[in-house]
Amino acid sequence: MDQNILDTPIAEVKGIGPKRAWAFQSEDIFTLGHLLNFIPRRYLDKRKPTPICDLGQKDFALVKGIVTSIITVGLGKASRMVVTIADETSYLNLVWFNFKHFMLKQFRKGQKLLASGEVSYFKGFQMLHPEIELLTIKKNNDDKLYSFHPCYSLPESLKKKGIGQKVLRNIILDALQRIENIDDPIPESILKDLDLPSLITAYRDLHFPQELERAIRGRQRLAFNELFFFQLMMAKRRSDSIQSQMGIQFKPTWKLVNSLIKSLPFQLTNAQKRVLAEIKGDMLSGGQMHRLLEGEVGSGKTIVALIAMLMAVESGFQAALMAPTEILASQHYQKIQVYLEQFKELKVAFLTGGVSKVQKNKLKDQIASGEINILIGTHALLQGDVKPSKLGIVVVDEQHRFGVIQRSTLSEKGLNPEILVMTATPIPRSLALAYFGDMDLSVIDELPPGRASIVTFTRDDRKRRELYNFIRKQVEQGRQAYFVYPLVEESEILDLKAATQAYEEMTERVFPELRVDLIHGRMKEELKNGVMERFRAGESHILVSTTVIEVGIDVPNANVMVIEHAERFGLSQLHQLRGRIGRGEFKSYCILMVKPPLSENAQRRIQVMCKTGDGFKIAEEDLRIRGPGSFFGIRQHGLPDFAIADFVEDNILMRKAREEAFELIKADPDLNLKEHQLLRKVFIGEYEKKFHLYNIG
Ligand code: ADP
Ligand code: MG
Repeated sequence: MDQNILDTPIAEVKGIGPKRAWAFQSEDIFTLGHLLNFIPRRYLDKRKPTPICDLGQKDFALVKGIVTSIITVGLGKASRMVVTIADETSYLNLVWFNFKHFMLKQFRKGQKLLASGEVSYFKGFQMLHPEIELLTIKKNNDDKLYSFHPCYSLPESLKKKGIGQKVLRNIILDALQRIENIDDPIPESILKDLDLPSLITAYRDLHFPQELERAIRGRQRLAFNELFFFQLMMAKRRSDSIQSQMGIQFKPTWKLVNSLIKSLPFQLTNAQKRVLAEIKGDMLSGGQMHRLLEGEVGSGKTIVALIAMLMAVESGFQAALMAPTEILASQHYQKIQVYLEQFKELKVAFLTGGVSKVQKNKLKDQIASGEINILIGTHALLQGDVKPSKLGIVVVDEQHRFGVIQRSTLSEKGLNPEILVMTATPIPRSLALAYFGDMDLSVIDELPPGRASIVTFTRDDRKRRELYNFIRKQVEQGRQAYFVYPLVEESEILDLKAATQAYEEMTERVFPELRVDLIHGRMKEELKNGVMERFRAGESHILVSTTVIEVGIDVPNANVMVIEHAERFGLSQLHQLRGRIGRGEFKSYCILMVKPPLSENAQRRIQVMCKTGDGFKIAEEDLRIRGPGSFFGIRQHGLPDFAIADFVEDNILMRKAREEAFELIKADPDLNLKEHQLLRKVFIGEYEKKFHLYNIG
């Protein structure tokens, strides 16, 4: 196969001598392809210069004017060349420090020019070190190609080595004019499917668009390349693991599942039914299920998971459910006991730290013998010497943590169960497809009907009295309320102090007539459970807490949530907290108490919360504000580092890339087809390394 033109070494590109080549290489730009992947940050429309009178500070603009004077002012370091230009509306100074004498001679009074750069203010508007294009000198015949003027974000190090906007632009323009075609690794049928331009068109349109619309398409095409190769790797990884690890093919009798569904006091929502069908598909097939189940708090994931578990149980296997904390595990246990009350024959074990040693050993034996059908516990459940003999399915409730189950822990025990991970955090689909790329995704995007609405609003200290009165009224009507305090500067001690003080003040002065309780992360588990139990039973009216209640507490009677210093919480946390209310039939209120002044981002967060309750919208906004890296709250998040693709903007493109990639791997798992050879080569040569994730032979 011919050398791909994009692999041309940088030094062989016209206009790049050894010095420039070296400068590029020091920035990891080794090939023409790397160079072309420099995406313009903006375009200036040369056909529409900004009138000088319309310029504002910090604008990045292009102006067209006539030189009216050329002078030098200042001495020594302050010495500078000032070229003043005028258009029909006003004057503008173009300023150069450190100018060379010959530069003065480049300008003549009366000469027309284009100047572009950032506008600043110093005794009037000026442009510092603008880029100039003289219009009287020989007419550039590239102008047709060139109505938009690309501006790149160049690293300082390149600029210092003399590679500025103009140099880069000319090198790229020249290169693009020489290239006739680029071998395209993406099969034409896929491009046609998605109506994406060829690579060469994409590069031309991206750098020198005739219309901005085309630049956007060009960028999409390049983003698609990244997304496609990434998803190709996921597809490959998935297809290999399915080949090497056969799962279980369940043969349920449907007795348990059907009578459970019949006994429910409600109809499953359409979303629940759809997701169940997806899960069923996995379980009835021979492959190993590895599926992420996403759904808002209260969307009814538990019942879905339980049905999946029963499918395993009535096929003669054991099922395990693991939660991140003991409180959550115990809630699951209680809920599931209620659902399973009718099935006296089923044995459910709850394994926690609180169980005595003797009792535990007995349970372990019963688990090992297969006598126990369903095991419930924390994420530590399957570590150590708990060894189920016939484990068919593991459901992992991640809530909003993304530890992701250690599949190795399971396979070391010789187990190969179906895996269903539940999460209540709405993750934007694009992000989920990247982060959990080798999992299948099921989304419950519909809440059960008949939920009371939640009203969210924001208040500050001036309205505190009214707030307390409002809560008193709600309690008089039989309701309960949460007060949540944030982490103060990441210090658990300060955090505790804020909540403790508030608790004391509320018991003594604000609500002496009510029962107020306190819960926080440092309390002993039993104490915590006691407090929760009282609140659940309605024996306490107000629960003051640090953010520990964020995770999965379910008290339908509580309909007010006050979040103190709401400006300090992240969006996903606010959303999780708010999910604690609106769980019953009562109209609910979320009050975000803020201490102005708020930062711009804090303002945005609060606004989003007041405006929408849709977790996916909130998550997308969160992604916009924080970027994908911080989204999971961990730094080593393992997300691919895309140069061009963007998780927010290219959401839909990611989905399409995934569909196409999975389809392709299904048809040609080892990329052996003739028409996939270039694809294979680029995949192995470039992307495999880039994503550090997968080795293909
Ligand atoms: P999640 O686990 O997604 O937070 P749950 O499974 O705990 O949600 O469901 C929340 C509540 O809604 C439970 O009380 C459950 O019984 C109820 N529920 C689940 N599905 C439905 C449905 N389709 N219609 C009405 N109520 C439902
Ligand atoms: Mg299966």
